[in-house]
Amino acid sequence: MSTRYLRPLAAFGFAVLVSACASMGTHPAAAKPADSTVIQSDIAYLASDRLEGRLTGTPGNDSAAAYIARRYAKLGLKPASPGYLQKFVARSAADAHAGITQGRPTQNVIAILPGSDPHFAGQYIVVGAHFDHLGRDPQFALDPEAKDAIRNGADDNASGTAAVMQLARILAPTHPRRSIIFADFSGEEEGLLGSQWFVDHPPVPLDSIMAMVNFDMVGRLNNDKLIIYGTATATEFQAILDSANAKSVMPFKVSGGGDGFGSSDQSSFYAKNIPVLHFFTDLHSDYHRATDDADKINSGGEARVVDMARRVIQSLDEMPTRLTFVRMTQPSRMAVSASSGSQVYLGSVPDMAAGDTPGLKLTGVRPGSPAELGGLKADDIIVEFGGVKVTDLQSYSDALYTHKPGDTVKVIVLRAGKPVELTVTLGKRGG
Ligand SMILES: [Zn+2]
Repeated sequence: MSTRYLRPLAAFGFAVLVSACASMGTHPAAAKPADSTVIQSDIAYLASDRLEGRLTGTPGNDSAAAYIARRYAKLGLKPASPGYLQKFVARSAADAHAGITQGRPTQNVIAILPGSDPHFAGQYIVVGAHFDHLGRDPQFALDPEAKDAIRNGADDNASGTAAVMQLARILAPTHPRRSIIFADFSGEEEGLLGSQWFVDHPPVPLDSIMAMVNFDMVGRLNNDKLIIYGTATATEFQAILDSANAKSVMPFKVSGGGDGFGSSDQSSFYAKNIPVLHFFTDLHSDYHRATDDADKINSGGEARVVDMARRVIQSLDEMPTRLTFVRMTQPSRMAVSASSGSQVYLGSVPDMAAGDTPGLKLTGVRPGSPAELGGLKADDIIVEFGGVKVTDLQSYSDALYTHKPGDTVKVIVLRAGKPVELTVTLGKRGG
């Protein structure tokens, strides 16, 4: 037994330590490092044109699910439902607005690695990522001018899907004490539909889930900058992350923090009082565009992120107790945007690459949108919205979501370096 078990177990006294030893039987096997070649080839397949961008409810999405399920079968993981497929019908608000009422039949892919210790096997760590993307549908794309071009979503989120498959491959031979659920969600881009279905129809009791670790866009590591959200959702997370990073061969510059509400699947779990983490290597100018392709993936960087996450998951597994959940008292901006505010629509197309100048640069405006009608243009930099200063995408979103459809708002943009004042009447998303 490794000494790393001794300290936490000391609190429970010698008897617990002995029983843990007895039930473990053997020393846990050391984990293999993540394989960047496999990561790259998984992403190359999932983000190839033949899967047509994995839009929920399309054959390409179903093929991606089958690919993931075959991998879990090969690893000998237990299916949570027949064929590893948790089938559901995705019904999105956007579809409803567009008059599409029949829903899109689709599936999550769920596999279980049973825990090796009877004392802990009834507790679960969910390791998840969404595998769907935008396909040929320009609805949520930031390059509507590309029309029905295939948006392959290599970083968003073939990268996270590959990370979850890597973690399954690496963790299975180490025989963790707790059970691990590997969950790949569909319907994320339409509004976290797959993860919402999962928490509403959980394969194990929700209160037996100790933590959810989400991977959404982890394929573009740049300058060692790793973002981890949700670190404040359990009191123990920060120390676990600091220690996992200290053990990295090349430590990351970690930022992020905060609550568990965000624009990815961890939100569905946090809303059910489960501690969550979201690993993320940041936005970039190919985000939600047809140019998010496999050749731009930093698979070596992603392998480092996977190794870091594996250390975090192993630390969770080594805990003698469960995490201490922290509920944020303030509803976060993302929670606000996920409810009423998300209906507000401007139709500007932001440049997702963080610029040097403060403000939100636009790469375009959608035809006929409130932004276009109000006179906003490509290359404008929004610096003020409704009297609130805008420094970046986040402060813009914060400002936007304090309004409701129909509000008339004063917007100040920098156009060719000069401030221009415009008035826009906000619309309704999907309306
Ligand atoms: Zn996305």
